[in-house]
Amino acid sequence: MLSIFAVVSLLPISQASSDLRRFKVVIDPGHGGHDKGATSDGGTESDVVLRISQILANRLNEKGRFEAILTRTTDKAVDLRERSAMANKKRADLFVSIHANSHVSPSARGTEFYIPSQLSPNEESMFLAERENGLAMEVAGGSENQGDLDAIVEDLQRTANARVSLDFAQALERSWRRKFPARKTKVQQGPFSVLLGTVAPSVLIEVAYLSNPSEAQELSQSSTHNSMADAIGDGIEGFVENLDKKGRSRHSLENAKFEPLANEPH
Ligand SMILES: [Zn+2]
Repeated sequence: MLSIFAVVSLLPISQASSDLRRFKVVIDPGHGGHDKGATSDGGTESDVVLRISQILANRLNEKGRFEAILTRTTDKAVDLRERSAMANKKRADLFVSIHANSHVSPSARGTEFYIPSQLSPNEESMFLAERENGLAMEVAGGSENQGDLDAIVEDLQRTANARVSLDFAQALERSWRRKFPARKTKVQQGPFSVLLGTVAPSVLIEVAYLSNPSEAQELSQSSTHNSMADAIGDGIEGFVENLDKKGRSRHSLENAKFEPLANEPH
């Protein structure tokens, strides 16, 4: 403990106050407990995404620049509203929800990065969101129990952060492609409760299809969990480095909340 204080005290005060503020990333492993999510011979979605999320959280925490917080650390059920509320209460800078996909066609494959949308989604993402949302569809937004002004401010933040969420999703997609050049990737919008309820820029990743026998086989291996955690971690780092290069900081992320959505994706 003493040595930590010694290091901190050597830094100029301004540098200490700006550099030592860690970037807060809330990582949300989907499902858990009685809710297993997608299942296959290779395992359950709830187990696979917990593993990837834990590796990712450890790697980010080792870097010192980040504070990674998991919405669940064990195989337990956590309400979607609780997951968003946790991110909002911790004042997360970024939120990433990790899932594995499933489709009636066993040939469906690849990785999808979803950003929050309340706009008319395509049929496919609506179907997926309904499956991921389960019974929580009606609680999207989750601003009950708040004062009106708080709710309005949070809504404005969510709207402006949709643009930042797109930048974040694209950074994740780039790092994913570097790590897995052969994989199909796509950035899309979807009405996922857990994203719509979260104020911070947020992305939901469907890492691969458990319904695809070859992807399910990959998802059963710890080497795949490590590579996927690396790809997501690199994407988060790349996104934050890019903010630094533009001379933006966590504060400008916060200030960006009232920018108009000029290039809203369709
Ligand atoms: Zn899921």
